[in-house]
Amino acid sequence: MVHTQHPSRREWLAQALGLLSVAAAPSLAFAQQSAHIVIVGGGVGGATAAKYLKLFNPTIKVTVIEKNPVYVKPYGSSEVLNQHAKMDDLNVSYDALRSKYGIRFVFDTVTGFDPVTRTVSTASRQKIGYDKLIVSPGIQLMYEAYAGYSEAVARTAVPSGWIPGEQTALLAKQLQGMRAGGTFVLAAPPNPYRCPPGPYERAALMTEWFSKHNPTAKVVIVDPKDSFVTDETMMLGWNRLYNFNLPEDYVKKMSAEVEVKQHSVTSMLSWVRGKDGGRTLKIDARQMRIETEAEVIQADVINVIPPMKAGQVAMTLGLADGSGFCPVDRRTFASTLQPNVYVIGDASIADAMPKSGFSANTQAKVVARAIVEELAGRTAPEPLWENTCYALAGKDYGLFVADVFKIIDGKIARINGQGRYLPLNATPAQIKLGARYQQAWLRTFTADCFA
Ligand SMILES: Cc1cc2nc3c(=O)[nH]c(=O)nc-3n(C[C@H](O)[C@H](O)[C@H](O)COP(=O)(O)OP(=O)(O)OC[C@H]3O[C@@H](n4cnc5c(N)ncnc54)[C@H](O)[C@@H]3O)c2cc1C
Repeated sequence: MVHTQHPSRREWLAQALGLLSVAAAPSLAFAQQSAHIVIVGGGVGGATAAKYLKLFNPTIKVTVIEKNPVYVKPYGSSEVLNQHAKMDDLNVSYDALRSKYGIRFVFDTVTGFDPVTRTVSTASRQKIGYDKLIVSPGIQLMYEAYAGYSEAVARTAVPSGWIPGEQTALLAKQLQGMRAGGTFVLAAPPNPYRCPPGPYERAALMTEWFSKHNPTAKVVIVDPKDSFVTDETMMLGWNRLYNFNLPEDYVKKMSAEVEVKQHSVTSMLSWVRGKDGGRTLKIDARQMRIETEAEVIQADVINVIPPMKAGQVAMTLGLADGSGFCPVDRRTFASTLQPNVYVIGDASIADAMPKSGFSANTQAKVVARAIVEELAGRTAPEPLWENTCYALAGKDYGLFVADVFKIIDGKIARINGQGRYLPLNATPAQIKLGARYQQAWLRTFTADCFA
């Protein structure tokens, strides 16, 4: 039986314009009761896709295959380092997705598939058939990109923690136990990487924590890049909170809108850009030294955020191209390399969309909608995607980047112009409100994906 619904005024308008925001997608129910959608990865992208498939059509059978029985949130994980959160706070249960929506979970690791018989195989030798396969495996970290660095070194001495877990706990322990006046070096990654403002937020939160608990400590960001998203607003926060002097070119660029203080005292925090030799070359875990193009830094704690590519299973299933990420049809996120497979989240190539939880969530809704429409024999409407990344320069200093995206000339492009960032002349109240929004987002976003 086909259920039709009258579109709301907003949906009607959107459809008339040929656009439909994923947030406005109606609850749909169609006749394809037997369709089985299998999802690889129960992180942000996979969980959201599972939930919205069921919301759009409760008769579809949805199975999530996930390595771990509990999801460990990457977003918010830097707050374990500065004691705003505990490791347990990162854990998210799959119970609500199971009990409220009837989503089936298989806790196993996907190791291969047969695209002809449409069967996924797992580490424990299960074979699971599908009609459509959604893959959202996140990233893998390329530890070997730096001489002297490896997963074993990351597990025992120089953690990354960009995929949260035991390395996050080790890093927290090292940072909180760092000797008085010690040096913490954070090696930022090259583009593209998960959570563009994340490394800089992490450095800021630790600078704030050290200024209370270890006031002679130093925080050094070494970076292969010369800029980063939210750089102006983030560094303005550092300038106000930690006496950080912005590079001269930034001061010049920003001077029309805001007065940037020039501090005579040396800041605890420094940022060595690519053009100043900030690119990491080598890690010496035994001596706790990091070598960049410019210098060898003797450190007490090093946090390496290595280059990234799509999660290993994307390679195994033949979904990634030479870039290390997965090409997709921008309209539906269907793989361009394998039939009946969709790739979303950090693993996908989504042009101007950042590798963020918000992006993975909004992409998941587009895919859920595209699949439901295809099963009903209809074409999905032209999608719009959104992203907002909130970030903290300090506990009460919030900022953001907010964008809307649309397909232009076959690529996902940003369509908002001005107003992407917290204004440089934002009032103290707006800045504080930004920090409250960040905290509220962590809660409401998790609920949208997992509850
Ligand atoms: C410090 C930090 C802060 C961040 N802050 C923000 C923020 O403020 N806002 C924001 O929007 N984003 C933020 N992010 C980014 C966000 O967490 C990721 O972009 C998001 O989790 C990507 O979702 P995903 O589904 O692609 O991958 P993930 O959420 O990583 O999910 C992938 C899942 O796939 C599973 N998996 C992988 N391989 C297999 C396999 N073979 N078989 C079975 N299961 C498998 C994994 O176990 C995992 O559960 C942050 C990230 C970090 C590290």
